[in-house]
Amino acid sequence: MMLHDYLQHRFVTNIPRLLEPGVLFISFEYATAAHSCCCGCGEEVITPFTPTDWELTFDGETISLWPSIGNWDFPCRSHYVIERSKIVRARPWSERRIAYGRTQDKIAKFRYYGADHKDSSDSQPSSSSDDVIYEQNKEASGN
Ligand SMILES: [Zn+2]
Repeated sequence: MMLHDYLQHRFVTNIPRLLEPGVLFISFEYATAAHSCCCGCGEEVITPFTPTDWELTFDGETISLWPSIGNWDFPCRSHYVIERSKIVRARPWSERRIAYGRTQDKIAKFRYYGADHKDSSDSQPSSSSDDVIYEQNKEASGN
């Protein structure tokens, strides 16, 4: 269910602390946009503009954001696209699709930012050779 099917846009320098529902606040200063979740749950949706996150299209009258906005971290789990200022509902994703999307995002960021973009998932060597038993075989066999 979507409360809003249209978003107004407002170009601002600072994103206001309290987001007005139904308005997309766009700050070029901070290269980001923010809006109150279009389902009406009131969650704050932040969409930064970077080559690997969102891109904004402004045709002089309407705004579009690409790719889609998937609010998986909110209880509503809404998923939609802002296209020419209209909210276009997108199909909900399965857990697998969400995981896949996150992986794709990591890959895109890695490709763009290189290895500097830190991902702290160090592979630890598995230590299964602790149980080496030193047997003291004293074979005091004389010749
Ligand atoms: Zn919502």
